[in-house]
Amino acid sequence: MKATVMFGAGDVRIEDVSDAMIVEPTDALIRVTRACICGSDLHPYHQLERSETGTRMGHEAIGVVEDVGSKVTKIKKDDLVVMPFAYSDGTCEFCQKGLNTACVHVGFFGSGMEGVGGAQAEAVRVPQADGTLFKLPVGEDDALMPSLLTLSDVMGTGHHAAVVAGVGPGKSVAVVGDGAVGLCGVIAAKRLGAEQIIIMGRHDDRIALAKEFGATDVVSERGEEAVERVRGLTGGFGAHSVLECVGYAQAMETAIGIARPGGAVGRVGVPQDETIPASLPAFFGNVTVGGGPAPVRAYIEELLPDVLEGRIEPGRVLDRTVGLDGVPDGYRAMDDREAIKVMVRP
Ligand SMILES: [Zn+2]
Repeated sequence: MKATVMFGAGDVRIEDVSDAMIVEPTDALIRVTRACICGSDLHPYHQLERSETGTRMGHEAIGVVEDVGSKVTKIKKDDLVVMPFAYSDGTCEFCQKGLNTACVHVGFFGSGMEGVGGAQAEAVRVPQADGTLFKLPVGEDDALMPSLLTLSDVMGTGHHAAVVAGVGPGKSVAVVGDGAVGLCGVIAAKRLGAEQIIIMGRHDDRIALAKEFGATDVVSERGEEAVERVRGLTGGFGAHSVLECVGYAQAMETAIGIARPGGAVGRVGVPQDETIPASLPAFFGNVTVGGGPAPVRAYIEELLPDVLEGRIEPGRVLDRTVGLDGVPDGYRAMDDREAIKVMVRP
């Protein structure tokens, strides 16, 4: 089968690899009908160390179940399913609390983990199929496919940032980052009843989309100037809730700088540093800093009705579609900010 392999920074290739197959009795095998390239895939695209074997890429997918292992009972052959970026058993104490990304059996697709494939491929093996996969009540070419696909990561991730940051009715919210997750964070903040939603970014097309999603204010400055602008827009004190959707130190520094005393930062951008900056402002402002890999599997049930009934349209962040052969150029297009997020149709 064909699959996306990254051999080093900037070196993405479509390779012939051995077919994905059932290994454990709890596995399913899915034929990928939709996948995408994630902003977090750009981190290895910038800095992955070169290797002979490379890393299978892709962690977001919708697909059709081709086969299941002998211990899989809920997921059946021919089901159309959404595959969250992490697999989880659905039964351990963390899964039961809705924190599937801390599952005792957790693993992450397209991350280089031994024996785990990627979704930017014709097929993928899904460990812990019963706990991981979610059956969709639509056909494989449904018009809602782009929005349904975002439930595998970016919509659930934006929602997680909003939940951790304590977004609710009447709250002021600032979203750091205008990538797909930040834009989904705007959708989530609006959906949870935020009164004011400040998008922080500087790309015209993304800002226009953020406004359509519910952003009330735009801050394009960076650093100290950005902090002052947000304070000015929020009565001088900063935002109740800040969604950090980037992962770089400067983004976190800004996020803490624009949180009001007693406010919260929900961080979902994969951190590129070992330490969290702005420790002193966070301490003296009693700012809660939380977040991590979103338990998107736990959020699908809550978000799916809004997608099916058209109340939210997160699929609009997918502004380019490619076949598998177009994946390497898709990485380039996202890295060059030509595309917000690229959908893949293997
Ligand atoms: Zn679990």
